[in-house]
Amino acid sequence: KPIIIWFRRDLRIADHSALCAAVATGRPVIPVFICDPMMDALGAAPKWRFGLGVEHFAKTLAALGSRLILRRGEPLTVLRDLIRETDADAVYWSRAYDTDGIARDRAVKAGLQNDGIDAQSHMGHVLFEPWTVANKSGGYFKVYTPFWKTVRGRHLDACLPAPRTIPAPDVWPNSEAIDDWQLGQGMQRGRDVVSRYVCVGETNAQGRLDTFLDHAIGTYEHNRDFPEKPATSRLSENFAYGEISPRMVWHAAYGAMQKGAQGGEHFLKELVWREYAYHLMYHFPALADQNWRSEWDAFHWLPDNENAERWRRGMTGEPMVDAAMRELYATGTMHNRMRMIAASYLTKHLRTDWRVGRDWFAQCLIDWDPAANAMGWQWVAGCGPDASPYFRIFNPATQGEKFDKSQSYRKRFLFDENSAEQRAFFAAIPKSWGITSGTPYPNPLVSLADGRIAALEAYRAMRGRS
Ligand code: FAD
Repeated sequence: KPIIIWFRRDLRIADHSALCAAVATGRPVIPVFICDPMMDALGAAPKWRFGLGVEHFAKTLAALGSRLILRRGEPLTVLRDLIRETDADAVYWSRAYDTDGIARDRAVKAGLQNDGIDAQSHMGHVLFEPWTVANKSGGYFKVYTPFWKTVRGRHLDACLPAPRTIPAPDVWPNSEAIDDWQLGQGMQRGRDVVSRYVCVGETNAQGRLDTFLDHAIGTYEHNRDFPEKPATSRLSENFAYGEISPRMVWHAAYGAMQKGAQGGEHFLKELVWREYAYHLMYHFPALADQNWRSEWDAFHWLPDNENAERWRRGMTGEPMVDAAMRELYATGTMHNRMRMIAASYLTKHLRTDWRVGRDWFAQCLIDWDPAANAMGWQWVAGCGPDASPYFRIFNPATQGEKFDKSQSYRKRFLFDENSAEQRAFFAAIPKSWGITSGTPYPNPLVSLADGRIAALEAYRAMRGRS
């Protein structure tokens, strides 16, 4: 009898535990991707990018003599239909670690097991299962550094090789057409623009990793904070859809480090930030919605407001912030330092609820990740784990001096009328924003000094209340 492999954010064949386990049985394997309500609920850019990943992955499987069966609906219903149609008696998948994914999978597993189906979840897109990393008192790590020190020296199994072929069933079930899912519908604004920046699929992800190891890892520690330098791996996009496994990246970077690559350790530390985000979300399932530090429930965040709208449009009058927001809109991504600066400005200078920013990033980022995004916002806002204390407020002007001294980043996204990105930004924005390339650049919404003082006062008031 065939085994169904239910693919989700794990669109690869190398180092894929569930796929390897299924192929090892020698039984026919039916790969399936379901456009489920969780996928429907994604923001415009990640949903569109996910679709590109699925389309690409279908070709990868076809080259191995297999297929990717596409179905839309509630996963349990779809899987039950497929089991009936194919006579499969087992369903395997890679474990999810985000809150919604865990809830979905638990319900599916219980339903299938109730039907007598062999429902197996296998190791997913983390280095270590979250329940295997604990502090001395058996709880989870509330700060990053001891987490890093604990996992740093841990044994990590070798990567699993990609199967050369995937045994096919005698008869394939019907598949829907991905175009009918209209995953790019919400992306009318900038599909043609953002598509210049995407790097889809397993082979391309591996190429990205190789380029990083060949050219950038040695200078990673020194250059990673400069948004104009091609200093980072840009693998977050591929991690988001499982086009490369964190274990593959870890082993490759670790190997480079042992051969003397200077920035290796620092890069591994960043990779472990991703890991930490998933462990955190696993242990604190409300991470995407509720302040991790409960005393922050007493903070008077402003709800969505006009200034926040200016922030989304890259029209705050603060060049580092606006350049970052335009980078996000024109390219679907944003450099890590710029994410911190833009997020700090919204939550501190504009005192706007971090969840307003979370939602905009979730709309626009092609590397949107439920755990890293939630943790990133909470970390910057001050209510997250290992928080930079609230009084450490990023000053966009000083940050610009330090990390964009030549202003090349700001010019590229803001002031150089002929830059590809600036043109792309204006080409992509909706008419309703009322901004054209001729619109004069605005004055700052708040003075940096006043915004800082008001933020600190709001923080003190919260301390008084909590
Ligand atoms: P590299 O510097 O090459 O790092 C390698 C890998 O380590 C990354 O691909 C990523 O998986 C991981 N990593 C690096 N920094 C972080 C970090 N601070 N937190 C978690 N993982 C990290 N990352 C996402 O993948 N998706 C998001 O939706 C997301 N939202 C964010 C929101 C805010 C407000 C902030 C401050 C950060 C957010 N990050 C998010 C983390 C970080 O900005 C990106 O992972 C990073 O910019 C990706 O670039 P890179 O792949 O070149 O990273």
